[in-house]
Amino acid sequence: MAEKRKYKKRYCKYCESKVDFMDYKDVGALRFSLSERYKIMPRRLTGNCKRHQDMIAAVVKRARAAALVPYSVTRHAVVTAPFENLR
Ligand SMILES: [Zn+2]
Repeated sequence: MAEKRKYKKRYCKYCESKVDFMDYKDVGALRFSLSERYKIMPRRLTGNCKRHQDMIAAVVKRARAAALVPYSVTRHAVVTAPFENLR
């Protein structure tokens, strides 16, 4: 097909690096699954498997409750490298 995909290769990055457990404090690991506005990316874009997507959803919500990841980002607060100030 001629259509250009934004995310070309679909494979689960977490399966590839054999992630069995995700820590909500390890925000860097969520990088692949959050958009620049800290929304959880849908599985159809990231290519994550169901198992890891479920883990991500739980971990991101936990991290939000712990204020490690913001719930929402306003138009003015969108940054190009969202994870630099989180570390
Ligand atoms: Zn996976």
